Amino acid sequence: MDSVTIVGAGAVGHACAAALRAHGYTGRITVLGSERHRPYDRPPLCRGFLTGQTTIDELALEAPDEDLDADWQLGVPAVALNAAAHRVTLANGRTVDSDAVVIATGSAARRFATMPRGVHTLRTVEDALALREELLPGARMVVVGSGVIGLEVASTARDMGLDVTVLGSATDALCTTFGATVADAVFGLH
Ligand SMILES: Cc1cc2nc3c(=O)[nH]c(=O)nc-3n(C[C@H](O)[C@H](O)[C@H](O)COP(=O)(O)OP(=O)(O)OC[C@H]3O[C@@H](n4cnc5c(N)ncnc54)[C@H](O)[C@@H]3O)c2cc1C
Repeated sequence: MDSVTIVGAGAVGHACAAALRAHGYTGRITVLGSERHRPYDRPPLCRGFLTGQTTIDELALEAPDEDLDADWQLGVPAVALNAAAHRVTLANGRTVDSDAVVIATGSAARRFATMPRGVHTLRTVEDALALREELLPGARMVVVGSGVIGLEVASTARDMGLDVTVLGSATDALCTTFGATVADAVFGLH
Protein backbone atom coordinates (compact mmCIF):
# COMPACT_ATOMS: atom_id res chain seq x y z
CA MET A 1 0.00 0.00 0.00
CA ASP A 2 1.13 3.49 -0.80
CA SER A 3 -1.80 5.46 0.57
CA VAL A 4 -4.27 5.10 3.43
CA THR A 5 -7.25 7.34 4.16
CA ILE A 6 -8.58 7.37 7.71
CA VAL A 7 -12.11 8.77 8.07
CA GLY A 8 -12.47 10.20 11.57
CA ALA A 9 -9.86 12.22 13.49
CA GLY A 10 -10.77 10.92 16.94
CA ALA A 11 -8.90 8.61 19.30
CA VAL A 12 -9.11 5.65 16.94
CA GLY A 13 -8.18 7.67 13.85
CA HIS A 14 -5.13 8.98 15.69
CA ALA A 15 -4.18 5.55 17.05
CA CYS A 16 -4.51 4.04 13.59
CA ALA A 17 -2.19 6.64 12.02
CA ALA A 18 0.30 6.26 14.87
CA ALA A 19 0.24 2.44 14.58
CA LEU A 20 0.85 2.59 10.83
CA ARG A 21 3.96 4.72 11.38
CA ALA A 22 5.10 2.62 14.35
CA HIS A 23 4.96 -0.47 12.13
CA GLY A 24 7.13 1.16 9.48
CA TYR A 25 4.52 2.30 6.98
CA THR A 26 6.03 5.20 5.02
CA GLY A 27 3.26 5.90 2.49
CA ARG A 28 0.69 8.71 2.44
CA ILE A 29 -1.74 8.99 5.35
CA THR A 30 -4.76 11.25 4.94
CA VAL A 31 -6.93 11.85 8.01
CA LEU A 32 -10.40 13.28 7.40
CA GLY A 33 -12.23 14.83 10.34
CA SER A 34 -15.59 16.57 10.49
CA GLU A 35 -14.53 18.48 13.61
CA ARG A 36 -12.00 21.27 13.13
CA HIS A 37 -9.80 19.96 15.97
CA ARG A 38 -6.83 17.62 15.88
CA PRO A 39 -7.54 14.39 17.86
CA TYR A 40 -8.46 15.09 21.46
CA ASP A 41 -9.38 13.17 24.60
CA ARG A 42 -13.10 13.26 25.38
CA PRO A 43 -13.28 12.08 29.05
CA PRO A 44 -12.20 15.49 30.45
CA LEU A 45 -15.16 17.07 28.63
CA CYS A 46 -17.37 16.05 31.55
CA ARG A 47 -14.74 16.79 34.20
CA GLY A 48 -11.86 19.27 34.13
CA PHE A 49 -12.64 20.82 30.77
CA LEU A 50 -16.22 21.46 31.87
CA THR A 51 -15.05 23.32 34.95
CA GLY A 52 -12.39 25.23 33.01
CA GLN A 53 -9.48 23.67 34.89
CA THR A 54 -8.28 21.71 31.85
CA THR A 55 -7.36 23.67 28.71
CA ILE A 56 -8.04 22.60 25.16
CA ASP A 57 -4.30 22.12 24.59
CA GLU A 58 -4.24 19.61 27.45
CA LEU A 59 -6.85 17.48 25.66
CA ALA A 60 -4.53 16.79 22.70
CA LEU A 61 -3.90 13.13 21.98
CA GLU A 62 -0.80 13.85 19.92
CA ALA A 63 2.39 14.14 21.94
CA PRO A 64 4.06 17.57 21.62
CA ASP A 65 6.96 16.11 19.63
CA GLU A 66 4.86 13.68 17.60
CA ASP A 67 4.86 14.07 13.82
CA LEU A 68 2.89 11.43 11.97
CA ASP A 69 3.54 13.13 8.64
CA ALA A 70 -0.16 12.92 7.82
CA ASP A 71 -2.34 15.14 5.68
CA TRP A 72 -5.00 16.37 8.12
CA GLN A 73 -8.16 17.54 6.36
CA LEU A 74 -10.32 18.86 9.18
CA GLY A 75 -13.64 20.63 9.49
CA VAL A 76 -15.34 18.89 6.55
CA PRO A 77 -17.27 15.61 6.90
CA ALA A 78 -16.94 12.72 4.49
CA VAL A 79 -20.33 12.11 2.88
CA ALA A 80 -19.81 9.15 0.55
CA LEU A 81 -17.60 6.11 0.05
CA ASN A 82 -17.10 4.24 -3.20
CA ALA A 83 -15.85 1.05 -1.57
CA ALA A 84 -14.72 -0.63 -4.79
CA ALA A 85 -12.66 2.36 -5.87
CA HIS A 86 -11.51 3.30 -2.33
CA ARG A 87 -12.74 6.83 -3.04
CA VAL A 88 -14.06 9.05 -0.25
CA THR A 89 -16.09 12.14 -1.11
CA LEU A 90 -16.14 15.14 1.22
CA ALA A 91 -19.05 17.51 1.81
CA ASN A 92 -17.18 20.22 -0.12
CA GLY A 93 -17.12 17.99 -3.21
CA ARG A 94 -13.45 17.02 -2.98
CA THR A 95 -12.55 13.36 -3.39
CA VAL A 96 -9.69 11.40 -1.86
CA ASP A 97 -8.44 8.19 -3.50
CA SER A 98 -6.22 5.72 -1.71
CA ASP A 99 -5.22 2.05 -1.54
CA ALA A 100 -7.07 1.52 1.73
CA VAL A 101 -9.79 3.31 3.68
CA VAL A 102 -10.22 3.03 7.45
CA ILE A 103 -13.58 4.06 8.88
CA ALA A 104 -13.03 5.44 12.38
CA THR A 105 -16.07 7.66 12.70
CA GLY A 106 -16.90 6.69 16.30
CA SER A 107 -20.29 7.65 17.61
CA ALA A 108 -22.37 10.79 17.88
CA ALA A 109 -24.89 12.08 20.38
CA ARG A 110 -28.52 11.91 19.30
CA ARG A 111 -29.82 15.45 18.94
CA PHE A 112 -33.12 17.12 18.18
CA ALA A 113 -33.33 18.60 14.68
CA THR A 114 -33.39 21.97 16.41
CA MET A 115 -31.85 22.07 19.87
CA PRO A 116 -33.96 24.28 22.16
CA ARG A 117 -32.05 26.87 24.19
CA GLY A 118 -30.70 25.35 27.39
CA VAL A 119 -30.74 21.76 26.04
CA HIS A 120 -27.32 20.21 25.46
CA THR A 121 -25.60 17.03 24.37
CA LEU A 122 -22.04 16.31 25.48
CA ARG A 123 -19.79 14.75 22.90
CA THR A 124 -17.50 17.46 21.52
CA VAL A 125 -15.39 20.40 22.68
CA GLU A 126 -18.08 22.73 21.32
CA ASP A 127 -20.78 20.89 23.30
CA ALA A 128 -18.74 21.28 26.50
CA LEU A 129 -18.06 24.98 25.90
CA ALA A 130 -21.79 25.64 25.32
CA LEU A 131 -22.74 23.70 28.48
CA ARG A 132 -20.03 25.39 30.55
CA GLU A 133 -21.64 28.79 29.84
CA GLU A 134 -24.71 27.69 31.79
CA LEU A 135 -23.02 26.03 34.77
CA LEU A 136 -23.74 28.84 37.19
CA PRO A 137 -24.01 28.34 40.97
CA GLY A 138 -27.65 28.00 42.00
CA ALA A 139 -28.86 27.08 38.51
CA ARG A 140 -31.01 23.97 38.13
CA MET A 141 -29.94 21.14 35.83
CA VAL A 142 -31.66 17.93 34.71
CA VAL A 143 -29.38 15.18 33.40
CA VAL A 144 -31.20 12.65 31.22
CA GLY A 145 -29.39 9.34 31.53
CA SER A 146 -27.69 7.86 34.57
CA GLY A 147 -24.79 6.23 32.76
CA VAL A 148 -21.17 7.09 33.42
CA ILE A 149 -21.16 10.37 31.49
CA GLY A 150 -24.49 11.51 32.93
CA LEU A 151 -23.29 10.90 36.48
CA GLU A 152 -19.94 12.58 35.85
CA VAL A 153 -21.70 15.66 34.51
CA ALA A 154 -24.02 15.57 37.53
CA SER A 155 -21.19 15.40 40.06
CA THR A 156 -19.18 18.09 38.24
CA ALA A 157 -22.23 20.36 38.25
CA ARG A 158 -22.84 19.68 41.96
CA ASP A 159 -19.21 20.64 42.68
CA MET A 160 -19.92 23.89 40.86
CA GLY A 161 -22.94 24.60 43.05
CA LEU A 162 -25.82 23.63 40.79
CA ASP A 163 -29.00 21.93 41.90
CA VAL A 164 -29.02 18.66 39.90
CA THR A 165 -31.69 16.06 39.13
CA VAL A 166 -30.68 12.85 37.33
CA LEU A 167 -33.28 10.89 35.38
CA GLY A 168 -32.23 7.29 34.82
CA SER A 169 -33.57 3.85 34.09
CA ALA A 170 -32.58 0.22 34.52
CA THR A 171 -31.46 0.22 30.89
CA ASP A 172 -28.85 2.94 31.47
CA ALA A 173 -25.24 1.90 30.94
CA LEU A 174 -24.30 1.78 34.61
CA CYS A 175 -26.95 -0.86 35.34
CA THR A 176 -26.50 -2.91 32.20
CA THR A 177 -22.69 -2.89 32.33
CA PHE A 178 -22.00 -3.25 36.04
CA GLY A 179 -25.26 -4.75 37.35
CA ALA A 180 -27.78 -3.49 39.88
CA THR A 181 -25.58 -3.93 42.98
CA VAL A 182 -22.72 -1.77 41.72
CA ALA A 183 -25.11 0.71 40.11
CA ASP A 184 -27.01 1.13 43.39
CA ALA A 185 -23.74 1.73 45.26
CA VAL A 186 -22.68 4.41 42.74
CA PHE A 187 -26.13 6.03 42.81
CA GLY A 188 -25.86 6.07 46.61
CA LEU A 189 -22.57 7.95 46.44
CA HIS A 190 -24.17 10.50 44.17
C1 LIG B 1 -17.96 13.25 27.77
C2 LIG B 1 -17.33 11.92 27.49
C3 LIG B 1 -16.66 11.23 28.50
C4 LIG B 1 -16.08 10.00 28.25
N1 LIG B 1 -15.42 9.38 29.26
C5 LIG B 1 -14.83 8.18 29.02
C6 LIG B 1 -14.08 7.52 30.05
O1 LIG B 1 -13.97 8.00 31.17
N2 LIG B 1 -13.52 6.33 29.75
C7 LIG B 1 -13.61 5.76 28.51
O2 LIG B 1 -13.07 4.67 28.28
N3 LIG B 1 -14.31 6.39 27.51
C8 LIG B 1 -14.90 7.57 27.74
N4 LIG B 1 -15.61 8.18 26.74
C9 LIG B 1 -15.75 7.50 25.45
C10 LIG B 1 -14.53 7.74 24.57
O3 LIG B 1 -14.30 9.12 24.44
C11 LIG B 1 -14.81 7.08 23.23
O4 LIG B 1 -14.81 5.69 23.43
C12 LIG B 1 -13.79 7.46 22.20
O5 LIG B 1 -13.87 8.83 21.93
C13 LIG B 1 -14.02 6.67 20.93
O6 LIG B 1 -13.06 7.09 19.98
P1 LIG B 1 -13.36 6.97 18.44
O7 LIG B 1 -12.16 7.52 17.73
O8 LIG B 1 -13.83 5.61 18.11
O9 LIG B 1 -14.63 7.89 18.17
P2 LIG B 1 -14.87 9.48 18.38
O10 LIG B 1 -14.13 9.98 19.58
O11 LIG B 1 -16.34 9.61 18.29
O12 LIG B 1 -14.16 10.08 17.10
C14 LIG B 1 -14.71 9.93 15.81
C15 LIG B 1 -14.38 11.17 15.03
O13 LIG B 1 -14.83 10.98 13.70
C16 LIG B 1 -15.45 12.15 13.26
N5 LIG B 1 -16.42 11.83 12.22
C17 LIG B 1 -17.63 11.23 12.37
N6 LIG B 1 -18.24 11.11 11.17
C18 LIG B 1 -17.38 11.65 10.26
C19 LIG B 1 -17.45 11.83 8.85
N7 LIG B 1 -18.51 11.43 8.14
N8 LIG B 1 -16.40 12.42 8.23
C20 LIG B 1 -15.32 12.83 8.93
N9 LIG B 1 -15.20 12.69 10.28
C21 LIG B 1 -16.23 12.10 10.91
C22 LIG B 1 -16.11 12.73 14.50
O14 LIG B 1 -16.36 14.10 14.35
C23 LIG B 1 -15.06 12.43 15.56
O15 LIG B 1 -14.16 13.48 15.69
C24 LIG B 1 -16.19 9.42 26.96
C25 LIG B 1 -16.88 10.09 25.94
C26 LIG B 1 -17.43 11.33 26.20
C27 LIG B 1 -18.16 12.05 25.08
